[in-house]
Amino acid sequence: MSAQWRVANNRLLSGFLVLLVMVVPMGLMGCSQNVIVTPSSPSGVAFVRPAYHILPIRVSHHAVVPLDNTEIDTILRLSTRIAQERDSLEDVSCPVAFVRTAPVRAFRNPSFPSFIATPDEYDAIMYGDDANVKVVAGMNWCGQTFRPNVLAGCTPAYGPGIAVASDPVPGRSSTEKDWLKSVLWLHEFGHQFGLLHRHDAHAVMHPYLELSHTQFTVEECRR
Ligand SMILES: [Zn+2]
Repeated sequence: MSAQWRVANNRLLSGFLVLLVMVVPMGLMGCSQNVIVTPSSPSGVAFVRPAYHILPIRVSHHAVVPLDNTEIDTILRLSTRIAQERDSLEDVSCPVAFVRTAPVRAFRNPSFPSFIATPDEYDAIMYGDDANVKVVAGMNWCGQTFRPNVLAGCTPAYGPGIAVASDPVPGRSSTEKDWLKSVLWLHEFGHQFGLLHRHDAHAVMHPYLELSHTQFTVEECRR
């Protein structure tokens, strides 16, 4: 099964399309939202306190892609905020937090390509480097071959990590880039936990990358 993610806002993007694809669901992995139920408060009234599920993030990148810890921390902070904030009645707050646990580094194998164009190249990077976010200059293979400059990310369901383009939407302001990358990374993490595309307006899992795609459902959040 494959699914697609494109930048839909052509008005802002001058027709540049970004497509993001999920590879193959391979199984079931529990990553439920943890909830601590406290038996009772001092007043005797039971209450529920959400416990944030901390997701440790290690980022590697091709040497041609400039990336530093500060930018990663910004992306992860925004991804965490998008996941946690309930910005409408249709949205839910997912008690997850993405936290960088190691300094960003270049790919361990310098022969890895900067652009993923074949299944072998994808597998080498996805399964040959132990970071769980792999940043490349771009890709045009994700289960099938796409036109260049279309794919923003590619993630195997229940796999070891996500692969993302370093600049999925060229030409945006730095602030918009940070937000778009945050939505992109969050979308790809969703695929990693087995989420499929959802075409509802504002869904993080919408196949089109937009700044306004910030919502999860209760069911998505349970993953
Ligand atoms: Zn997708």
